[in-house]
Amino acid sequence: MPQSWLLAYDGFHPEEEGLRESLCTLGNGYIATRGAGPEAEAGDVHYPGTYLAGGYNRLKTDIAGRVVENEDLVNLPNWLSFTFRIDGDTWFHLGAVEILSYRQELNLKQGVLTRTIHFRDKQGRRTKVSSRRFVHMKERHLCGLETSLTAENWSGNLEVLSGLDGRVVNAGVARYRQLSSKHLEWIKAASFDGDSLLLQVRTNQSHLEISQAARLRVLAGGKTLNVERHTVEEPGFIAQKLSVELAPGQAVTFEKIVSIFTSKDRATSESGLEAHDVIQRSRGFDQLLQGHVLAWKHLWHRCSIEVDDGERTALVLRLHIFHLLQTVSFHAIDLDVGVPARGWHGEAYRGHVFWDELFIFPFLNLRIPELTRSLLLYRYRRLGEARAAAKAAGFRGAMFPWQSGSNGREESQRVHLNPRSGRWVPDNTYLQRHVNAAIAYNIWQYYQVTNDLEFMYFFGAEMILEIARFWASVTVYNPEVDRYEIHNVMGPDEYHDAYPDAREPGLRNNAYTNIMAVWVLCRALDVLETLPEERREELRTMLALEREEIELWEEISRKMRLVFFHDGVLSQFEGYENLEELDWDAYRAKYGAVQRLDRLLEAEGDSPNRYKVSKQADVLMLFYLFSAEELGELFERLRYPFPYETIPKNVNYYLERTTHGSSLSGVVNSWVLARSDRPRSWRLFTQALEGDIKDSQHGTTAEGIHLGAMSGTVDLIQRGYTGIEARGDVLRFNPSLPAQLKRLRMSLRYRQQWLEVEVTQERLKVSNFTHGGNPVRIGFREDVLELQSGGSREFRL
Ligand code: BGC
Repeated sequence: MPQSWLLAYDGFHPEEEGLRESLCTLGNGYIATRGAGPEAEAGDVHYPGTYLAGGYNRLKTDIAGRVVENEDLVNLPNWLSFTFRIDGDTWFHLGAVEILSYRQELNLKQGVLTRTIHFRDKQGRRTKVSSRRFVHMKERHLCGLETSLTAENWSGNLEVLSGLDGRVVNAGVARYRQLSSKHLEWIKAASFDGDSLLLQVRTNQSHLEISQAARLRVLAGGKTLNVERHTVEEPGFIAQKLSVELAPGQAVTFEKIVSIFTSKDRATSESGLEAHDVIQRSRGFDQLLQGHVLAWKHLWHRCSIEVDDGERTALVLRLHIFHLLQTVSFHAIDLDVGVPARGWHGEAYRGHVFWDELFIFPFLNLRIPELTRSLLLYRYRRLGEARAAAKAAGFRGAMFPWQSGSNGREESQRVHLNPRSGRWVPDNTYLQRHVNAAIAYNIWQYYQVTNDLEFMYFFGAEMILEIARFWASVTVYNPEVDRYEIHNVMGPDEYHDAYPDAREPGLRNNAYTNIMAVWVLCRALDVLETLPEERREELRTMLALEREEIELWEEISRKMRLVFFHDGVLSQFEGYENLEELDWDAYRAKYGAVQRLDRLLEAEGDSPNRYKVSKQADVLMLFYLFSAEELGELFERLRYPFPYETIPKNVNYYLERTTHGSSLSGVVNSWVLARSDRPRSWRLFTQALEGDIKDSQHGTTAEGIHLGAMSGTVDLIQRGYTGIEARGDVLRFNPSLPAQLKRLRMSLRYRQQWLEVEVTQERLKVSNFTHGGNPVRIGFREDVLELQSGGSREFRL
């Protein structure tokens, strides 16, 4: 297997385990299991975790003088649970033996995690343990763990304990440990058929029932061994104990197949019954593995991006695509889940859904748009909750939450712990209303790529109109400047939630928010114009959308206020200019890394609100989401000058003041430099690319991957450096590869056609390899042409 398909680790390094466990998570969009060893217990070194996509539960905690309620992604019973001992000694764990060799490999092509350990115990016995595991990509309820043990220089009794462990709590994030964490209550445990176990638990607030069944087979020399088993049971835990006699050189294999069902599953009667029946008829490890590998083969066929830039870039891009496909898969389609910022890989951000979709959907749109559709429907189903939230806040339309979980209620925490100071501080991030613009933007992008009129007709238009209505109701008219304004919000830069020394949180006229609101209003007007008459009338009556309101949208979209510095740079928000400059050198000298400047300042009794500093791209998001041409149109509509020379001025101004405290920051900044400063863009790209694999955010990857940044880096290659833009009915290309990227090749799905795109430093080749169907329109710089099925075009760069 080429190295660019393998994430491999040699040696056991306790301090790295958390990171490896996250990066070696296996999942299928329905469940995910971290890459912890089967014998590992939750503690300072390891954190085994299994999560169900959308498996949430709420708990209350009395903290910092108030009762807070948080909705968490629940850590489910540990199905891996498997350990052994020799001649009645202590149960195997890595700390108790001398490790002679240790290798762990994640095979990205096949979705298989293997681990091989060679160890010597205190009695001098040498043993080899190799294991393989999968979380089935096709048969979503099934997982498998196969462990082979070889007695190298000893003979004796090998005793195995294999179980289902429901005694788990949520303890994966140190910052959350003061919060309530016990989400599961026990229902029942049983053994059946001699070789199988069943464990059933229930979440204590959302009453989600989870059932796991495990079948353990013992094999030696290719034959099944009939071994006597004893059931071990304690509250929340059930296991089988069995033993075999081994002679020197002899090996034995244990094949554990597990089925997982929940009360949310469709086409089921009762989760326990399903788990039981499915495990009874399930095939063996190798046969299941075949189907799993085939499912991955098909996924890679659609989703691979080939780059000619040494193995490292190829490997990390694959790792990112791999984790995206493990978080959102075909199973998401009937699950009613959103896409969580940290994957289903850990407990950070509690499995919540933020605006990170903005960075994730572009890859899916151009490969498996059906997945984007399903993720957008997650939002549509929560439109009622968004309407209620707008109403409760005194607005109209739909106000989607900054953090969304089960039912679309605002799930942002109200206080968060600064681990540096140990203080619980108010969390006002829910004021990031711009998430609503991101949702509208995502609907529009999906529509541009797919031309899915049915989606727009039945779902998309209604959401866009309701979001537009929300923005119009949030704006206030300022007669002094004859402009509309938006107050009391936060932009994407989370370092600024209030004016210095203000009592109340919120900022005025965040440039990003205001322009996005204008853009949404424009799209809402487009939607009304292009919808077929009968649907437009249906929606207008249903939403009681009168002519005056539409006229107001039109007016606001032409008169929104933006604030500029005297040299034409956009002010991040009104009043930004009055903030102090930070003494960067002093802070860097004092702390080294200043990514989380917010925490450093808070611990000093200060606040980033006082300074011209940003956690991440805010104004610069505009240059990320829109081409210069599109932005020019928006500014013209607003009657603000937009000389193109101000773009680099804006970029330089804000880039100098950004700490990249969010993993998304590098992606955006690399993107905005992709044309003007390719070497710097590439540097930022490689930094963003290494973000998770090197854990650049210091310990955060162990708590869950950063899916927005992972997908964003892939999209930088996909759209950023190829200049792909789907606008109107044309798919435009304008490649500009960084010097380090010699060649890139990928398949894209655009309007029901499969295109193959190949870009080198000298040329662009686009081929349509679909059989039949309508031709697609592709654009290269100013030219637009039709590409028939079977057709191919080349352009010199
Ligand atoms: C970033 C947000 C992001 C969230 C989840 C935060 O650190 O500031 O922009 O949505 O993480 O990824």
